[in-house]
Amino acid sequence: MNAVAVPDLPATTLDAGKLSQLVQLVDGLSPADLCWVAAWSASLAVHAQRSGAPVKAASGAEAAPRLTIVYGSQTGNARRLAEQLARRSSEAGLPVRLLRADAYPQRELAQERYLALVISTQGEGEPPDDARGLVEFIAGKRAPKLPTLQFSVLGLGDSSYPLFCAIGRQLDARLAELGATRLAPLGEADVDVETVATPWLDTALEQAREAFKTNLSAARITPLHAVSNQAIHTRDNPFAAAVLANQCIVARGSEREVRHLELSLEGSGLHYQPGDALGVWPRNPSALVAQWLDALQMDGEREVTHQGRTLPLRRWLTAEREITRLSRPFVKALAEAGKHAALIDLLRPERVAELAVLLARDQPIDLLRHYPQAWEPEALLAALRPLSPRLYSIASSSRAVGEEVHATVAVVDYQAHGSQHWGAASSFLAATNEDGTLPVFIESNERFRLPADPARDIIMIGPGTGVAPFRAFVQERAETGASGRNWLFFGNRHFAQDFLYQTEWQEALKCGALHRLDLAFSRDTEQRIHVQQRLRESGAELYAWLKGGACLYVCGDSSHMAKDVHAALIDLMAEHGSLAPDAASAWLDQLLQQGRYARDVY
Ligand code: NAP
Repeated sequence: MNAVAVPDLPATTLDAGKLSQLVQLVDGLSPADLCWVAAWSASLAVHAQRSGAPVKAASGAEAAPRLTIVYGSQTGNARRLAEQLARRSSEAGLPVRLLRADAYPQRELAQERYLALVISTQGEGEPPDDARGLVEFIAGKRAPKLPTLQFSVLGLGDSSYPLFCAIGRQLDARLAELGATRLAPLGEADVDVETVATPWLDTALEQAREAFKTNLSAARITPLHAVSNQAIHTRDNPFAAAVLANQCIVARGSEREVRHLELSLEGSGLHYQPGDALGVWPRNPSALVAQWLDALQMDGEREVTHQGRTLPLRRWLTAEREITRLSRPFVKALAEAGKHAALIDLLRPERVAELAVLLARDQPIDLLRHYPQAWEPEALLAALRPLSPRLYSIASSSRAVGEEVHATVAVVDYQAHGSQHWGAASSFLAATNEDGTLPVFIESNERFRLPADPARDIIMIGPGTGVAPFRAFVQERAETGASGRNWLFFGNRHFAQDFLYQTEWQEALKCGALHRLDLAFSRDTEQRIHVQQRLRESGAELYAWLKGGACLYVCGDSSHMAKDVHAALIDLMAEHGSLAPDAASAWLDQLLQQGRYARDVY
């Protein structure tokens, strides 16, 4: 074969077609992913040399058994755990492939021998967006009988919601109903994910090793989705990022404080793409910790041992436990410890709606004050969840800002029940000034990506701080010279105070980086106006953009906004496409499954 000379590429014996395919495949990969590709290719080469046989590309329908790991993830936890399982399985020599649920070829389910599913459940018992299709398929009439399948399911959820781990439970029961056998029992992980996930991973791996014992010689690692390389700085080993800027970006008189943060990633080895999130490990406000110690009548310097670690109580409450978010397990522990009849009654299943109101409205400190209780410090720590990192959608494109990362943070700080209340991360971030550092990591979000085709139009809907990733999108499209049009819907309370990044949007409109901007300032008029009203008003044009192939993105609040926007989209598609509501809804679902409609909501 003749060597093909390609500009900027070393000479190679690959034919031009293969070379072009390879170049396309690696285009846009991060340095970490490129290292992974290099390492994987090298291991394939060693394997091919040893066996004397050429490498044959894996086709999903191969007969050789392997462990298929599929994840459905909204905020990245399920993906992270699935990746851990994949990494550990391949280190143990098991042939493994890892896939996001929407990339799983459903027709292969009937031939699958070993399957591990890691899947989260959203607020009201819904699957994550990337797993809707697979969950529907497995639950539906077309699902095949699965007598030869061995499987295990790890469900993730929040036990403060009544339908805790509903999707994990549903899949576990349905696979068994289809004739499959459990390799490991269903795991149901709460917000303190690792407590259940770690032993589940151990069991799932152990059972998979047992199942594969006789088959290891035929083992071949077949990752159809790259197991991301362990970067040096991760969730468990965050980078101390220097704060370069920390500015309030709402005008005086605004009812809420919103801040724009710029952090340095220099020297971290961290990389991100538009759509990714910045993870931040918070610390609880010292004033709140003081309120706790006061309410508990405990000495903050007292050493407390919990789960094998001894720390002063103040340190436990500052850096190790969630003390700003009320959870059902905490209410239950308090109710039982103090035999508080009112709380015990509130935990009855019939009162689930009232409990939900309490969990959303109050913080644990409110209950500690309302239900005074002599706690043993160890019991208190056991009742509280471990502190978890907060995720902020990244508000910058690294093409535009180099080794920096920007975030948009609404500061949670309000009066309730006669005292000051704070959010953990936002007050921590707000209080870190420009010579401080913050412990951060990058959480990638493959479902929330700009279209690969730069000529495609995009429609972005981001009220409040939900506008953050769209700043990154517009920066990126300007930097790459993407020819597709960019349309932004933004809403907030007041035009004069809360127009986040106003001058940047105006500049972007002027220079052509943004083609259209529709605004909904909800509290400037007697009747509140929200972004969905603007969507409806521009229905015909929006429909035309969608018909023309535009990608649609929504970021912000999941509990109300995302649902109302979804409903408005169905209405306008039905009206302007002359479709029945069911058909419009099915079209939107299809866009969701294809990834042409992506949501970053929580
Ligand atoms: P916010 O102040 O709660 O609301 C922003 C605007 O949305 C206001 O004008 C509000 O109007 C309006 N709104 C209220 N209900 C609505 C509905 N049902 N449909 C459409 N619009 C509605 O916003 P925020 O505090 O900035 O919070 C934004 C949300 O985004 C949070 O839930 C946050 O967790 C989420 N989020 C943030 C990021 C980030 O990186 N910062 C990323 C992803 C998600 P009213 O005057 O009626 O209240």
